[in-house]
Amino acid sequence: MDEQSAQVFLPPRERCFERLRLARFGETVTCVHCESDAVVDRGTTGKDAQQYWCKSCETYFNDLTKTIFGQHRFDLEEMFYIVKEMRSEPTAQIARDLDRDYEAVLNYVHKVQEVSDNIDEFDLYDVCEADEVYVTAGERGLEDEDGSPRERGLSKRGAEPSNQTNRQC
Ligand SMILES: [Zn+2]
Repeated sequence: MDEQSAQVFLPPRERCFERLRLARFGETVTCVHCESDAVVDRGTTGKDAQQYWCKSCETYFNDLTKTIFGQHRFDLEEMFYIVKEMRSEPTAQIARDLDRDYEAVLNYVHKVQEVSDNIDEFDLYDVCEADEVYVTAGERGLEDEDGSPRERGLSKRGAEPSNQTNRQC
């Protein structure tokens, strides 16, 4: 392998969304338009954001609506990377890291700089300091294998015995 090839490990997209959701909404998702909590999940957008339907004002919104991550062609993990790196790396370097157009990255850097003075919803830079940005692909793979077997142990054991007892009485 030549040393020129990119050594950039982006955080897993799902983890970026988790961090963003937690920073924006905390435990309960509330409508970004009317702040009602009468909100139900309605699938995902083309960019993998969770989509919501607000029953109060009857409007759709998603994880990215009204944030600096909305309405942009970069993937969420790429935007996380730019926000994280733009304070220490030249824009040209970030563009090379991501294999993206310099102008596009520069525009996004400017956009972030514009809003970063008046962000009060959540701390943008804090959110983007995803601790796993630099984990290797190998370590990431191991983590995923843990999830599924645990769910099997959660089958409804409580319900059946009490039913049987009732029947036999
Ligand atoms: Zn609403």
